[in-house]
Amino acid sequence: MLSIRFEQAKSLKAKPEDDKLGFGKYFTDYMFMMNYTAGKGWYDPRIVPYGPLVLDPACVVFHYAQEMFEGLKAYRVEKTGQIQLFRPDKNIERLNRTNKRMCIPQMPPEDVLQAIKELVRVERDWVPHSVGTSLYIRPFIIATDVHLGVHPSKNYLFCIILSPVGSYYAAGINPVKIIVESEYVRAVRGGTGFAKVGGNYAASLIGQEKAEELGYAQVLWLDGIEHKYIDEVGAMNVFFVINQEVVTPTLEKGNILPGVTRASCIDMLRSKGYTVSERKVSIDEVVEAAHTGTPNEAFGSGTAAVISPIGELNVNGEKIIINKNEIGPISQMLYDNLTGIQWGRIPDTFHWIEPVC
Ligand SMILES: *Cc1c(COP(=O)(O)O)cnc(C)c1O
Repeated sequence: MLSIRFEQAKSLKAKPEDDKLGFGKYFTDYMFMMNYTAGKGWYDPRIVPYGPLVLDPACVVFHYAQEMFEGLKAYRVEKTGQIQLFRPDKNIERLNRTNKRMCIPQMPPEDVLQAIKELVRVERDWVPHSVGTSLYIRPFIIATDVHLGVHPSKNYLFCIILSPVGSYYAAGINPVKIIVESEYVRAVRGGTGFAKVGGNYAASLIGQEKAEELGYAQVLWLDGIEHKYIDEVGAMNVFFVINQEVVTPTLEKGNILPGVTRASCIDMLRSKGYTVSERKVSIDEVVEAAHTGTPNEAFGSGTAAVISPIGELNVNGEKIIINKNEIGPISQMLYDNLTGIQWGRIPDTFHWIEPVC
């Protein structure tokens, strides 16, 4: 058990209106922080007023990007007002897998969970009430050694910040347009694709910028070796429904981020009797299927939007329209069931919910 010290803020911020929230624009009054020093371990857990960090410009994180992050949400149950998390244990397991890859020390899972829950409890009034809104939780770790030599840092800062976020689908679920990236790659076997790190995003920005210029919401990344197999979409994992099979790229090669939403989709689908295959999916298979009338559905999965139906896929200039650019029955089923459990509208038969307060 951490003994978390609390530092009172001098004044509290005005909370934004639910319909102005957007994503990651507003931050709450407090943040959690804890330090690490080699030989000493993690120490000084504290909840302190949200504010700027003062760091030496020679900190390792600024130069060699030794850092990691996580992303999950706290949801308010409409009927009871209870605040709850969705599978935080999965995020914490992933945090430690990311840490291992990045030479960042492991964290006791129960301490991370305690820190998240305590901070959310302190900030419970920041969990918005409107349908589809939530409190986004962003834990992250940065390397704080002050030196320019290339070594794993001996000092780290672990932080958790909170941001109330709006409904992703204020105007109903609209299928997104996705473009296959033909030039750049995001991750390769042996690299950091499976780790949730800023560097992966830094490498993806150029593709994202190109996609946006062409009027597409996000990029579909292909594997970095053969440029043939589908990896994932921007900040989402991807699923296709081809004939009667639901397929999603396998995590085996270590170049895809193992999404908590992805895992939950697979469990949910199997529990409802669908056949789900985690396997290699080539872009050619998807194009070919499109020419013969399938894929019937394609969608992305991630904490932010839960399920994002894909209405158009641009493959080297060929525009493939999927399911008449409408949300399909499997996407809708997953969306309704996952959000139903997250916001406490349907019973949590999977035991995915962690109550906070
Ligand atoms: C976080 C993330 C996802 C989605 O993971 P969830 O745990 O479902 O939110 C997918 N791809 C990338 C690259 C990510 O960073």
